[in-house]
Formats: sequence, C-alpha cells, structure tokens
Amino acid sequence: MLQNSNTADYIVIGSGVGGLSSACILKDYGKVLMLEKLHRYGGTSYTFRRGEFELPAGPLGFSYPDYVNSMFERLNIGRMVFRRKSYQIIAGKINFVIPDSFEKLSKILERIFPEENMEKAVNELKKVSSEVKGKFVWREKLCRVNEQRLKNGALKSISCDMDMVDYSVSAQEYFSSFLRDENAVNLVSSLGFKKSEQSLGAASIMWDIFCESGIWYPEIGIKGIMDSLFKKIGSKGFSFVKNMEVKKIRQEEDGFVVSCERDYFSRKVVSNIDPAFLFEIVDADMRKKLEPLYNKTHGASVLTVYAFSDNAAIPFESTHGLYYPFMDEKNEADDNRFYYREVEITVLNRLESVRYGRDVVILRIPVSYEEFVCKTKEEYYQLKSELSKELLEVVAPLIGERFTILDCATPLTYEWWGGRYSGSVAGLRWDDGYAECLVETPVENLYLAGIYAFSIPFIGGFPSSLFSGILAGELAVDENES
Ligand SMILES: Cc1cc2nc3c(=O)[nH]c(=O)nc-3n(C[C@H](O)[C@H](O)[C@H](O)COP(=O)(O)OP(=O)(O)OC[C@H]3O[C@@H](n4cnc5c(N)ncnc54)[C@H](O)[C@@H]3O)c2cc1C
Repeated sequence: MLQNSNTADYIVIGSGVGGLSSACILKDYGKVLMLEKLHRYGGTSYTFRRGEFELPAGPLGFSYPDYVNSMFERLNIGRMVFRRKSYQIIAGKINFVIPDSFEKLSKILERIFPEENMEKAVNELKKVSSEVKGKFVWREKLCRVNEQRLKNGALKSISCDMDMVDYSVSAQEYFSSFLRDENAVNLVSSLGFKKSEQSLGAASIMWDIFCESGIWYPEIGIKGIMDSLFKKIGSKGFSFVKNMEVKKIRQEEDGFVVSCERDYFSRKVVSNIDPAFLFEIVDADMRKKLEPLYNKTHGASVLTVYAFSDNAAIPFESTHGLYYPFMDEKNEADDNRFYYREVEITVLNRLESVRYGRDVVILRIPVSYEEFVCKTKEEYYQLKSELSKELLEVVAPLIGERFTILDCATPLTYEWWGGRYSGSVAGLRWDDGYAECLVETPVENLYLAGIYAFSIPFIGGFPSSLFSGILAGELAVDENES
C-alpha cells in the first residue's frame, strides 16, 4: 500500500528544461513530484565547477530568443536580455564571420565561389526556412507556433492545417543539382565541409539559426535561467527529490507506479528522459504501444575539452570559431585522428556573463559513442586524457600551444549527465522534412518533454525543449482542469 507522501497528481521524471517548464505549469493544478537522477536540477543546461572555473555542461547559447521570452512570460519568470554571439568559419582560404542576414550571406558566398550560383542557393535556404520555421507535425496536421500568442500558452499559440510541402529531400542531393564545387555544396547543405544527411528543411533551419535569426546568450547565463525556473515553481505543492533514478514504470488501471528506491504513484506522468531509455524501463504493455516511436535514430555525440591560458593569442574575434584543420595550409597534423573533422572553438570569456580574467576555451568535435567504449575504467580515463591532448594539438596551429586542460566530457559523460542514448547532443537525426511532435505518446496520460519530444528540435535545442515542457504540462491538465 502506497503512503500519501508517495502519491502525487503529477510525476515529472527528470529536471532538465523540459521537466522544469512542465512542472511550472502543473504546480497550479495539483501536487507535483519531480524525480531526478542527479544531485541537482538543470539537466544538461547547467554548470559544473573545476577549481576557480564554473563551466557550462551543455548549451552555449540558443536560437529564437523572442520565442523563448514569450514562453518565459507564459511561465511568469519575465523577459530576459540576450546578446547575439558570432560564429566564424575558419577553413583555410574560406574564412568569414557568418553575417546576420541571408542577403549578406549571399554576397559573401558569391565572392568565395564566383563560378557558382550562390545567390540561388542562399535564396533557396531563405525561402525554405521561412516555409519551415516554427512548424511541426502534430495529430497528423502541419501546425505552426505563433510567437506572440506563446505568452498565453503553448496550446493557444498553435494553429494547424497548413499546406505541407515536402522538404525531406537530402540537402546534399538538392544543391548538387545546380552547384558543382564540392565545398560549396557541403557548406550550404551542412554549414561545414563534409557530406551530410540533413534534409533540405533541416539545413535551411540550421542556416536560419546561425545567420538570419542568430544564436544568443542570456545575460544571466543558462544556469541563471534554470535557477529562475526552479525558484518560480516554488515549494507549494511541489516536491523535488534528487539522487532518485527512476528504474521502472508500471501502468495500473488508474495511473502509474513509478519505481526508484521506493514506489511512487500518480495518475499522470511527464517524462523528461530520452525516450530510448524510457522504452527500457516501462512495462511490456506500454512498450508495445510505444514501439512505433522508437525506430528514430539518435544524432551524433561530441568530445568536449575545457582548457585555459594566461597568455593565449586567439587570432579571431568571434565568440566561436568553426575550424577545419584539413583545410588549413599551416596545419600539418594529418596523422592526428581529428584532422579531418570540424572543431568548434568557443572563447568562453567572450560571453557577456562569464568573467574569468583568463582565456578559457571549449573545444567540441563530433565523435561516435563507440570510440569511447572501453573494457575498464582505467582504459577509459587513459583514452580521455590522450584524446583531449590530441584535440588540443590539432587546433594548436590556430590558437597556439599555451593551453592547460581543465577537463573533458565524452559521449559516456553525456549518457550519464542527461541520460542521452549513445551520448547524442542535439536530439534525433535531422533527416525529416518537418519536425514531428512526440509530446503526446500512445500511452494515455504519459507525456514526453525535452529535446527528444520533437523528431527535430524545430526551434533549436533549448527553445524546443522549453516549448515541449509547457505543451506537455498544458496537455496533462487540459482535459479536466484548464
Ligand atoms: C554537449 C551539449 C551541447 C549542447 N549545446 C546546445 C546548444 O548550444 N544550444 C541548445 O539549444 N541546445 C544544446 N544542447 C541540447 C540541450 O541539452 C538542450 O537544449 C536542453 O538542455 C535539453 O533539455 P531537456 O529538457 O531535454 O533535458 P536534459 O537536459 O537532457 O535533462 C534530462 C534530465 O533527466 C534526468 N534523468 C535522466 N534519466 C533519469 C531517470 N531514469 N530518472 C530520473 N531522472 C533522470 C537527467 O539526470 C537530467 O537531469 C546541448 C546538449 C549537449 C549535451
């Protein structure tokens, strides 16, 4: 028999931005219990400390701050101030700061690839992104989020029944039909210099995010936002239980038994955990119903290295450099395992709210989960240390050698921190034409919130997770209470 303290009107599993935003809605409608595996709330949108340095665990900014501010109004945490970040592509002779409009982008790319019709390519990106932006498939209809109406609620912001144009063709295939230069095709289809599987719809949204709409950093930092959200939920009717990993969920006639070290009961559950892991912990009946959701492939993971220097000379002025060692004539490290990959270099001390008095860089590079699977812990730590050094070495021809490693995070770290299947960082694979909304599951009264609640994070990772949390909360209370 469950005790009263173990029952709630709503259980939220996981306290990332998706979980916290749904709790922020639900707390006005009943008793909410949040169960979190880690020792703190915030999920991947938080920080950790290494000596004097407070370092971001995951996001380094996000897109569509106007959508985000409308959602903050909905959650009554007020609007926030954001500053736009700058991204510089550093690929040998191809070296430019990504501008803030498609018109400027077109001019830059026409100069770099004078033989190619870059005006047409950029016009296509612009046209498709304006078609796809803010849209997703929900209840088999194409819907759109209205940014203004978001402040009144996620459900009130959605209008459906739009005409659906299919943009699921591969961007690579599409642009190859009228561009010949391989670098030009790769750049417009993936914002990089490698072949990509992204759809035309997803590639256009990505360019919109980096160029026209921008990537922004909140003045109070990402942790500051999570602290505000948690504070807003307050303690009235809300219990937060940390260090409490959910290991099983069983459905009964009138609700769910959620099992950790002990059993909790609730009529409705919002899950902020990766559906691939959720799938493993639900009972057989639920698994059968959820099966169609789980044939989605997860996106790539990254290796992240944090390093500092007292006397670095970083030769670019943007907050972020996207560096391609194999295109840099000065870089001769072709025996380095990272030579042929893209390295994102973030100069952390250039973000407004971060002040260290030293240069702190975050290096990120795409890696696969399999590269880090080791037989023993010792082997894993040894590999982590070797690969961190190797990553620092491959960027040394650009940023110099005067950096000291603070720490690093691998796909296994992301699997543990966020509970992300194979350490994926940016959600599921971006090869659908439109994002599919997965917030409502085939199991009645079980909702998804977070980055995996959409097949593509259609307004960017953090904003989509925030939106999904609000939507999950509103749907969970919708039937009877709201
Ligand atoms: C390295 C990295 C870089 C990123 N960069 C960006 C970026 O620049 N911009 C951007 O918009 N997005 C970025 N993202 C995506 C980002 O993580 C999301 O935007 C956002 O933080 C996702 O939030 P979420 O709600 O899905 O929850 P998460 O942050 O994934 O949190 C899920 C929570 O659930 C908990 N949990 C998991 N399993 C259980 C269980 N069984 N029981 C109890 N609790 C459990 C976890 O401990 C965690 O607290 C990045 C992610 C990573 C990992």
